[in-house]
Amino acid sequence: EREEPHYFGAGPALLPTSVLQEAAYDLVNYQGVGIGIGEISHRSKQASEVIDNTKANLVSLLNIPDTHEVFFLQGGGTTGFSSIASNLTASFVKKTGRKGRAAYAITGTWSKKSVEEAQRLGLDVDIVLDSKKVDGKFGSIPPVDKWSIPTDLSNTSYVYYCDNETVNGVEFKEFPFESFPGVEVVADMSSNILSKRLDVSKYGLIMAGAQKNIGLAGITIYIIKKSLLEQADDATLKALEVPLSPIAVHYPTVVKNNSAYNTIPIFAVHVVNLVLRLLVKNGGVDAQQKINEEKASILYGALEKFPQVYELPASTDARSHMNVVFTLNGDLDAEFLAQAAERKLNGLKGHRSVGGMRASIYNAVSLHSVQELTKFIIEFAEAHS
Ligand code: PMP
Repeated sequence: EREEPHYFGAGPALLPTSVLQEAAYDLVNYQGVGIGIGEISHRSKQASEVIDNTKANLVSLLNIPDTHEVFFLQGGGTTGFSSIASNLTASFVKKTGRKGRAAYAITGTWSKKSVEEAQRLGLDVDIVLDSKKVDGKFGSIPPVDKWSIPTDLSNTSYVYYCDNETVNGVEFKEFPFESFPGVEVVADMSSNILSKRLDVSKYGLIMAGAQKNIGLAGITIYIIKKSLLEQADDATLKALEVPLSPIAVHYPTVVKNNSAYNTIPIFAVHVVNLVLRLLVKNGGVDAQQKINEEKASILYGALEKFPQVYELPASTDARSHMNVVFTLNGDLDAEFLAQAAERKLNGLKGHRSVGGMRASIYNAVSLHSVQELTKFIIEFAEAHS
């Protein structure tokens, strides 16, 4: 039991209370078998059902076409940074016999970390966009004519971007797919998966850690184009100095074993499945997107009304619908946070690298919570204008 929290933390983040209650029960005794979901074998009928059900719910919520496969890995988004680099390069080698060069668009903290990891592993990389270099700070997504895209893309193994930059509050409306013909597009959607409609068919790979919109830390969702599961063999990769994927994150091996090549944290997958079931029941992604748009609109609307008090570092057309980043003019951070806490509005402190405030309004954060926060933002501004 708990009072409904108004919690705006960036991740781990709020989950629906009913999901947590059901999960807590299942942790003790799952489907009346007398032991909990975390205690049964990861190869049992129950565990396989959890995996299959979760995949089926993702397929239906996101209209994932037959050309694509869903699988799960441990290790969070950060493990995605490295596993994407090694696995997708191995797919490119299979197709072309060449190592190729990976293209990265950098629009904030997480895409930057991802490209650094690819370089650490020894990939050759083309930075097709670094928005900080274009604008002096992370906060916008410059139009594609400001990007540096190689004219010949035949040696580009994949192009990577982060759909929603959690720290900087910057979100793509639409990736410029048409500027990368024939190149596999890879997206990190850790902080906005299932928050809005998505055309999966346009992607080679989508990766999303669960702990923001859809579950607990411990499991990461991958949606991959099946043709990319064809990889060159180890000897060929070694000869080309392509890093081998550790076996636990070797995509073909994981897929062949229905995500249970090694012990999968089945409780974490079960929680995702409970979240997905609730989302289906509440009208799916379309209904959720509508609510999310309303939440973002009232919050940004209130902040914009008081430019003497609040600043919005992200440019209007690139504002995230999930992470609303704002700063306070003057030395008001501590006072703002203290007064917010008095109203039980919590989790608002911005990321240490950018400071200020960040209200994360993921799927589980209700319109009511956002209305309460908006009320406070207006009253605080009126008292300080
Ligand atoms: N990508 C994005 C967009 C994120 O927000 C985060 C974490 N906040 C990560 C990747 C890294 O995830 P993890 O901590 O699970 O490695």
